Order: sequence, then structure tokens, then C-alpha cells
Amino acid sequence: METVTAKPAQAHYSFFQGVERSFDLAAKYTRFESGILEQIKACNSVYQMKFPVRIGDKIEVIEAYRVQHSHHKLPCKGGIRYSMDVNQDEVMALASLMTYKCAIVNVPFGGAKGGIKINPKQYTAFELEKITRRYASELVKKNFIGPGIDVPAPDYGTGAREMSWIVDTYASLKPGEVDAQACVTGKPVTQGGVRGRTEATGLGVYYGIKEVCDVAEDMKKIGLTTGIEGKRVIIQGLGNVGYHAAKYFFDNGAIIVGLAEHEGGLYNEKGLDIYKVVEHRKSTGHIQNFPGAKNVPTSADVLEMPCDILIPAALENVINGSNAARIQAKIIGEAANGPLTPEADEILNQKGVIVVPDMYLNAGGVTVSYFEWLKNLSHVRFGRMDKRFSENQNTFLLKSVEHLTGKSVGDTERSLILHGPDEVDLVYSGLEDTMIGSYHEIREALLSIGSGVNMRTAAFTVAINKVGVAYEELGIFP
Ligand code: NAD
Repeated sequence: METVTAKPAQAHYSFFQGVERSFDLAAKYTRFESGILEQIKACNSVYQMKFPVRIGDKIEVIEAYRVQHSHHKLPCKGGIRYSMDVNQDEVMALASLMTYKCAIVNVPFGGAKGGIKINPKQYTAFELEKITRRYASELVKKNFIGPGIDVPAPDYGTGAREMSWIVDTYASLKPGEVDAQACVTGKPVTQGGVRGRTEATGLGVYYGIKEVCDVAEDMKKIGLTTGIEGKRVIIQGLGNVGYHAAKYFFDNGAIIVGLAEHEGGLYNEKGLDIYKVVEHRKSTGHIQNFPGAKNVPTSADVLEMPCDILIPAALENVINGSNAARIQAKIIGEAANGPLTPEADEILNQKGVIVVPDMYLNAGGVTVSYFEWLKNLSHVRFGRMDKRFSENQNTFLLKSVEHLTGKSVGDTERSLILHGPDEVDLVYSGLEDTMIGSYHEIREALLSIGSGVNMRTAAFTVAINKVGVAYEELGIFP
């Protein structure tokens, strides 16, 4: 077995080095020679671009990136982020996490990520459209986008609107390309999007944590009962991922005790109604002064307050060497990418906290993006061919049972039994199945490696094994 040495934990890591360190910690539990491991780790293509856009009466030079981490499977896949914190190291780290994430949830893509170094709040929709379309045309020029090449998606600071501008720019530069819609995912449903994509990452976070909480043996070790109901949850970030995760936890009986946004936080041990908090934030412009809740002026302090489950769903490095020891949660679900630094990971591991790693937990987005890409390539809505057939069969079966037993079911049961699958039913079911199956693959790896290893290392071994085998089977040029 090749030995890959990891840097000592107290060193300061860039985000990408942090990912490499986690990789190295896991690599020693795999059987691959060092050359294959180096190839898996390396970013295959890094495209840094600068382009001018006229904003008002000035020309602004915009800095942007697209990194394709791995070409072992094509297309590459990963979101596009708009943030002033975007830099090459961050995009490389996020692209590499995408490779491992896709492998873990058995999505047949290589990893990629994009970023534009802007604060989207400082631009009008018209200006954002100009920036987005110019970025998309730069990607087309360099062959960095396409249904079989590289398929972006939303990430921090972007959403369906931006994806819509990208698909339109791509299609207008590639007239007649029949699969053009599959060049990007996370589109509005009217533009070829799939039902269920918007909430997919947050819903995947919920399904993943639910599965963690359903394993009695693991819950017993951390002194919790099984199930989501009654668990106290804190969520950081009420954007796409955080809001939807909060909604599913709330709807399924968890108690949302704390919420943190960039302008401040809230805490109420009796629970916060997520729908009312969001309404309050919309009408007042901030999260604070919500009736019955305690204001937490420094948003980051909410992370340290009492709870069972902590869900960081905003940005990276929010739990680090300086606050990790004060975290009270017994389960941390990494909904954001890279919310824990390696130092924090080590401290929390020693405390016995279950850290559910980002590359598994937030893979719901890419899983449903995969479904959207399949839908675009097949040019047919999921359920279109079989919904009525299933309903007819169910009707026949139910009638036969009622006839044989002489009894009939109530109206609610009848509509549940007869219902044939809509697109959204199939998407949710595919997502739930993926999150459950992948969690148990990681847990089995964890159990087979043995003590002293955390779930992140186990997840990395699962990913490295799958990508390593793909490289071996691809063959390496002599
Ligand atoms: P988003 O832009 O929709 O939401 C981010 C939210 O975080 C915003 O509401 C923002 O105000 C808030 N925020 C910013 N700074 C904060 C702070 N200091 N404290 C508390 N809140 C703060 O972004 P998103 O799509 O929800 O992405 C969030 C994270 O999830 C990112 O790390 C992203 O990479 C990851 N992720 C997103 C997806 C997806 O499908 N959108 C998929 C996988 C991973």
C-alpha cells in the first residue's frame, strides 16, 4: 500500500489544501498507487478569465473562473457562484469536492465549479444579465460548456434566473444544437428545468440527516433518541439550501431553535416558525426583532448555542479553530460546502460529534441536476409515458381487491393508491433513494475502516475508490 502523508492538523490551510488534506487522510485506506491518487487529486483544467462589461457610464473588468477538476467522466458538473470571496483556490476546492460528491451519489459526472468575483447585490438585474451572458459566451468560446462537456448549475448567489440567461446565450451561439437545453441545470421549469430542483439540495440535507438519526446504534452513542421529531435544530443561512432544509425539518416535527443570517441571528428554545420568520424578514428587511425570540446581534454566535443538530448552510470556514470547541451540537450537517476547517473537524471529531460531510449531505442538488440533464437529453417529462398506465393498473388492482373482499377503502386512501407518479414524485423518490443508499455506503466504509476515522474520511474513501477504478478502467497512456 502506498503511504500518503498528510500535513499536521495545526497548519493553516487554504480551502483547496484542506480538501487535499482530507483526501490524503483517506487515501491510505485505499489500494491505489500514488500516480493514480495524484491524478485524482489534480485539477485537470483551470480557466481564469477577465472580461469588460459596461456598468452605467464606466467599464468594469470582471474576474471569473471555471475549473474542471476531473474528466474521468463527462460531462463535468458544478455550480456557478457569485461572491466577492471568489478566487482560484476556492473554485479549485469546490470543483474537486464536486468530483467526490458525484462519485458518492453515483452521478456519472466529473467535478467542476465556476465563480464570478462580484457582489450580486451591487448590480441591477440588467447588469447581472450582461455579466452572466458575457461569462457564458466566454465559456462557449473556450469550449468550457456543453451538454457533453461541462454543465453548470446554481450555487451561492445564483439561481434559476441566471441559468436561464446561460441556456439562452448558449443556444443562440449554437443554433440547431438539439440538446442545447442540457448545457446547464437548475433552469426554470419553463426553460427545460425539472420539478423539484429548486428545493433539491435542502431536501437532500433533510433526507440525509433523517437517515443519520434513524440509526439507533449511532444515536445511542451520542445520547439522542432516533428520529427527527423533537430534535432541536440551528440553521445558518436562509438562502436556497438553508431555507428549504429548515422548511423540511420544521414540517417534519423538528424544533428550529436558532436561525442565523448575515445581518444577525435569532434564538428561541421553544422553536421558531420558519414560514413566519421568512415573512417577517421580507417585510422588515432583517431577521431580528421576531416576536418571542431572542436577538443574537453577532450572527456567528448562534452556531454556539444549545441544539442537537447544527446545519451551516451559508459559506465555508464558519466553524474553525476559534469556535469549534464551543459548538454544542451533537450532529453537524454540512449543508454548505466546506463550512468546517480541518482544525474544527479535528476538534469536533475528538468531542465525538457526528459531522455529516458536505460532499455527501449537499449532493441532492447535483443528483436532481442529473435528473434534469437526463430529462433534457430525452426531451420528455418524467412520468409522461407511465403515469396514466400506473393509474389504470392501480384502479384495476384496487377494484379487484374490493370485489374479492367486499370492502372498500376511504376517499383519501383511494386517491393515494390510485395516484400515478408525477415528475416531482419521481424526482423526490429518486433523491430519497440516493441519499439513503449513499449514506449506508459511507457508513459501511466507516465501520470497515474502524475507530479513529470520521465520516468525512470514510466518504472520501468511497469516492476515491470509485474514481480510482474509473481511471484504471479508462487506461493510462504509456
Ligand atoms: P444562497 O445565495 O441562496 O444563500 C446563502 C445565504 O447565506 C443567503 O441568504 C445569505 O444572506 C446567507 N449568508 C451570507 N453570509 C452569512 C453569514 N455570515 N451568516 C449567516 N448567513 C449568511 O446560496 P445557496 O445556494 O443556498 O448555497 C449555500 C451553500 O450551499 C454554499 O456553500 C453552496 O456552495 C452550497 N451548495 C448549494 C447548492 C445549491 O443547489 N444551491 C448545492 C450544493 C451546495
